[in-house]
Amino acid sequence: MNISSIYIIIFLYNIDVLKNKNDKRELIVAKRPEKGVHVKSDYLPCKFCLRFYVKDELWRHGRRCYYSPHDPHSEDAVDNEEQVQLNIVEAGVRLLNGAGVSVSKEVNAEKEEFYVYVMQALQDDNLEKGVKNDPGIMMFGRTVFDRLGRRRAGKVRYRIRLLERIKRAARSLTKSDGSEISDYLAPDKFDAVVEAVRTLVGVSDERRLNGVIMFDKPELAKKTGQLIRKFAEMIEGRLVVDRKRERRQDVADFLYLYSTQWSHKIGSIAHQTSVERKFNKKQVLPLTADLVKIQSFLDKNIERVGNQLRDNPEKKTWREFANYLLTKVTMFNFRRGNECAAMQLDTFIQRADWRAGNADIYNSLNKFESQLAKQYVNC
Ligand SMILES: [Zn+2]
Repeated sequence: MNISSIYIIIFLYNIDVLKNKNDKRELIVAKRPEKGVHVKSDYLPCKFCLRFYVKDELWRHGRRCYYSPHDPHSEDAVDNEEQVQLNIVEAGVRLLNGAGVSVSKEVNAEKEEFYVYVMQALQDDNLEKGVKNDPGIMMFGRTVFDRLGRRRAGKVRYRIRLLERIKRAARSLTKSDGSEISDYLAPDKFDAVVEAVRTLVGVSDERRLNGVIMFDKPELAKKTGQLIRKFAEMIEGRLVVDRKRERRQDVADFLYLYSTQWSHKIGSIAHQTSVERKFNKKQVLPLTADLVKIQSFLDKNIERVGNQLRDNPEKKTWREFANYLLTKVTMFNFRRGNECAAMQLDTFIQRADWRAGNADIYNSLNKFESQLAKQYVNC
């Protein structure tokens, strides 16, 4: 169903108003809430009809929107109600982002940060060139980076690498030379994108008991699905602004196929695969002897490199020292590396003094435990 062109004109007008923070004009919105004072940035567009609503009313409207391709009375709709609410708000944000309105709460002081933290780090692999030459991926990367900030730049890099890999897979499957990933956001390319994702995540030789196929990398399959949907929604917003009506309809149709077919072609297979794998997984515990060995290896090296560092502080030595230390902290805390990396020294220094209110606990410790506690809990 094509949306009425008056809605598109109003959408474009609103984007214009939102782009400039000093613009005094009012937004044209579908509905002004009776209660409360609302500012322009409280409003988000509906992904189906492009009319503006405040966030709380947007999801209520989304269920009933005349232009929604979903049947609100189907069973599917009831199952996913929560997801639908979330999606419609997020899609609104992405439409605005795609149209060039920054909705990020953080102030983006240096746009260049994107290059430093994302693009430069991509140089090590041969995906960088493809990414640079793909305006859609670049725009998506910037938008995600604005939202996540530099501390989570790794996630941004992960997503844009993945988009580039999907594009390459689709290109070699279709033997076409679509130079941009957005070229594949069209209803006649949908199957190619599904196939491309299947080659990336690998269809396993194993079968489930009921004969259904399994993926080698089910988690990657799940992430890919979300990524493609978010990307397509952003591109759709961009095309509305550029008034490319035909292309926009292509992307909208692609998204429609996504909403009706992705789940049984990729999503549910990925989900079932991970359930099955988890069920059959053996927990292998490390041997004590191995743990002792690695601990003493770490201690020895931390001391050795620590001394080197004192005499001759060099970048290379620092890095080596940091690696050994991180491994030790990771093992001691039984945490993943990135969780330890996020620990702050301040948090450790300002940790609460347990002894004051917990005399009972302390008295109940055996000799070994109280030694440990002495060493690690405020002394
Ligand atoms: Zn609507």
